[in-house]
Order: sequence, then C-alpha cells, then structure tokens
Amino acid sequence: MMLPELLPASLLRQYLFCPRVPWHMRNGTPVPEPMWVRQGTEHHLRQRRLTRTRKLARLGLDTAERCFEISLSDDELGIQGVVDLLLVERHEVVPVEFKLQDAPPTTAIQLQLIAYGLMAEKVFDRPFRRGLVISGSRTRTYPVKRSRSLERRCRKVIDNLRYDLGAPFLPPSSAQLNKCTQCEYLPRCNDRY
Ligand code: SF4
Repeated sequence: MMLPELLPASLLRQYLFCPRVPWHMRNGTPVPEPMWVRQGTEHHLRQRRLTRTRKLARLGLDTAERCFEISLSDDELGIQGVVDLLLVERHEVVPVEFKLQDAPPTTAIQLQLIAYGLMAEKVFDRPFRRGLVISGSRTRTYPVKRSRSLERRCRKVIDNLRYDLGAPFLPPSSAQLNKCTQCEYLPRCNDRY
C-alpha cells in the first residue's frame, strides 16, 4: 500500500498500544467515535483555558509565547502532527500535551512528546530539551526530559510503524486480553477471543 510521506505522530501512541491499531485505522472499516474522544476534546478545551492563566514562572516559562494546536512536520523523521500547546521561549521550545487521566505519562505518551519536540526544534530553530504533560482535572504537570534513549526509541518506533503500515497483512501483536477487550477493532482481529 502507498503510504503518505508524512505519517501522523499521533499514530506512535496507537502503535505502542498495539501495532495493529494503526494498520486497522488505514485498512479497516470505520468505527463509531468512542466516548473518550468526546471527553478528551472537552478536557482539552478546559486545559487550554487554564493554561492561558497558568503561572509558568516556576518552570521558567512565564515569558514563553503560547501556541495552541500548532501544526508541525519533519521530512527527515517522516512525520507530522498537531501538538496541543507549544511554548516558545527565546532559548528553547517546550511541547505540551494535555491528558485526561491523572497519571504519570506512559512511555507511549513520552515518545509522542519527543516526536513533537524533535519537529518543533527544527521548525523554530531553537533547542528542545524537555516537554510537559498536563494531566487530570487537577492539572498536574509532569516534565519529560529529552534523552538519547528516548530519542533513539522514538526514531525506531517511527521506522517500525512505517514498515508495518506498508505491509499487506495484519502485523503481529502481543496484545493480551486487557488490551483487546477495550479495543474497538476486536471484531476485526479474527485470531483474538
Ligand atoms: S483487538 Fe487486540 S490485537 Fe486486535 S487491534 Fe485491538 S488490541 Fe490489537
């Protein structure tokens, strides 16, 4: 299958949940909009309002320009996407993602943030050293530091995603019952339950 040159960065998180989910999204029948999408949209709007008034001084970001839902892309990485918020300081760019659940960011969320940071540093020509995840109704802030291992892993996942999306058959998956039973593609995975 022909793939677009730039893949959506949001697929990284889906891919790490299960490599088949992005494949289904491209090849499967449409599924109804899940409830969590609507909840997530409302949550984003609320976080957006709160972040406008939030004091970012303790993070050294009080003078940063706040760019909401900004489009980013990178030909070398082969990805594009819209980050929830990008804080643009004179000496750095800091991507921010809003998450509904109040929990420390998973590896998948961290890798998606790294992908946004890598794109942003090229687009804005200033370094990316850290990102932030703002979670839950209490708007807790979790910093995510850029590291060599996270960056390496991010690039590897992008390569694997591109490879699996181009395959004509469902990619292998180690997803277990706990994932499959909450997955809307379960009826499309005929080797599962
Ligand atoms: S049903 Fe299971 S194997 Fe199939 S896409 Fe969902 S999580 Fe992956």
